[in-house]
Amino acid sequence: MTKFNDLKLDPKVLQAIAEAGYETPTPIQEGAIPPALEGRDVLGIAQTGTGKTAGFVLPMITLLGRGRARARMPRSLVLAPTRELAAQVAENFDTYAKHTKLTKALLIGGVSFGEQDKLIDRGVDVLIATPGRLLDHFERGKLLLTGVQIMVVDEADRMLDMGFIPDIERIFQLTPFTRQTLFFSATMAPEIERITNTFLHTPARIEVARQATTSETIEQRLIEITPTRKDQSAKQKRELLRAVINAEGEACTNAILFCNRKTEVDILAKSMKSHGFNAAPIHGDLDQSQRTRTLDGFRDGTIRFLVASDVAARGLDIPAVSHVFNFDAPSHAEDYVHRIGRTGRAGRKGVAVTLAVPADKKYIDAIEGLVGRPIPRANAPEDFALSEAAQRPARKDDGKAKGRGRDRDDRKGRPVKPHGEEAAMSPVEAAPQARKPERDAPERDEAKEAKEAKDGAKSNGRRGGKSDGRKRREDRDAPVVGMGDHVPDFLTRGLKTEKA
Ligand code: AMP
Repeated sequence: MTKFNDLKLDPKVLQAIAEAGYETPTPIQEGAIPPALEGRDVLGIAQTGTGKTAGFVLPMITLLGRGRARARMPRSLVLAPTRELAAQVAENFDTYAKHTKLTKALLIGGVSFGEQDKLIDRGVDVLIATPGRLLDHFERGKLLLTGVQIMVVDEADRMLDMGFIPDIERIFQLTPFTRQTLFFSATMAPEIERITNTFLHTPARIEVARQATTSETIEQRLIEITPTRKDQSAKQKRELLRAVINAEGEACTNAILFCNRKTEVDILAKSMKSHGFNAAPIHGDLDQSQRTRTLDGFRDGTIRFLVASDVAARGLDIPAVSHVFNFDAPSHAEDYVHRIGRTGRAGRKGVAVTLAVPADKKYIDAIEGLVGRPIPRANAPEDFALSEAAQRPARKDDGKAKGRGRDRDDRKGRPVKPHGEEAAMSPVEAAPQARKPERDAPERDEAKEAKEAKDGAKSNGRRGGKSDGRKRREDRDAPVVGMGDHVPDFLTRGLKTEKA
């Protein structure tokens, strides 16, 4: 068996690897490192979780060991599709380059240009960036790409999903023809094939097995639910999800809950919290510091449930996730593979539960086609029964967070197809006046929510209504002894006025 010591890596890199506790390279590392060290282009077909990041970071550090960076001319470039993935590459770099003097800069959205400019001005060996942010810097004239000797494209298939391929092509053209290219993708879509044919020169091609077909450590289950009311489909699924989580008990140490849309991510996270679950959302609309805080919290165990969209969670390296729940069946089959691959990592056992409504059948068929076998069916927990509330007609404002205009996942240019609940939306839910896209809908405190929505609507329609609205809110927020939280709003105001 090959050991890291057999690879011709810089002794400083080997020392850092040993300190990280790794002895044996993973298959993608074993395949990619030797040709990369020879200066060859590499085409790695591998998913996250295979160790591919170290597969390119380790040879890069070794190759860059000789030479020095010049101002504004990075010597190497790593492109990643999302901020989180870029940050993860940067972390890997810090780990493996700690005994070297190499410098890096991370160019991602949500961080001020000024700080990033300063680093680039000083000269960096490794520039890690998302494509859009890199081009922003380039266009501001702060960056020259003519010194790039090694260029890495990570998660190219995700770049394709997010509409970044034109940016990638442009960046390729801005770098020297003589550069070395290390290119990684989980799949080889025709568009990816075209890019690699154009920009890679006789690459060493290394393919490692797909996760979904090899990972026997993930127990998969599909629970089908036929909502008794179409307009309460999401609510009924939330009740089922809670029941499934509760039935898992302590075996569920932590979990990622996947939704297809950002609005649903927010709704589910709020709903989980209101039912006493330690949950937090992550998606592309949250600012960077919030996303980082949430991820750190999930990694260190202070957050137990991460409610996520595909883009936000894809490729994230969170080693110990006991469960994945697909609150929405993914509408792209390959997303299923990526989602469930968040659990059952590094030989640990994992459980992946998918909830599906009848409208999801076509997605489930596509997933089963891709992974080449049926997802085992499972029943809802024995004691599961829908609440009465979930079987009553939906409140008028139930759909208020589902703004159509912004109804995309974080990926650029590809609207997430509505399905299931949304496709089945009742006329009441779909009525424009019932929508309030700027707010998300928690399940509890329903009377209060409905009242606030109404108050807001009224005050918006009235001149001077804003201050009126604020005053009413202040009145309402003052504690009213003995009335609890669930008192109809008009009652609390009346009592408050009398007491004051
Ligand atoms: P990646 O596919 O790059 O996201 O890596 C997945 C995980 O594998 C990360 O937690 C790495 O720290 C870990 N890892 C990378 N290389 C090795 C190795 N040779 N042996 C064991 N774990 C590794």
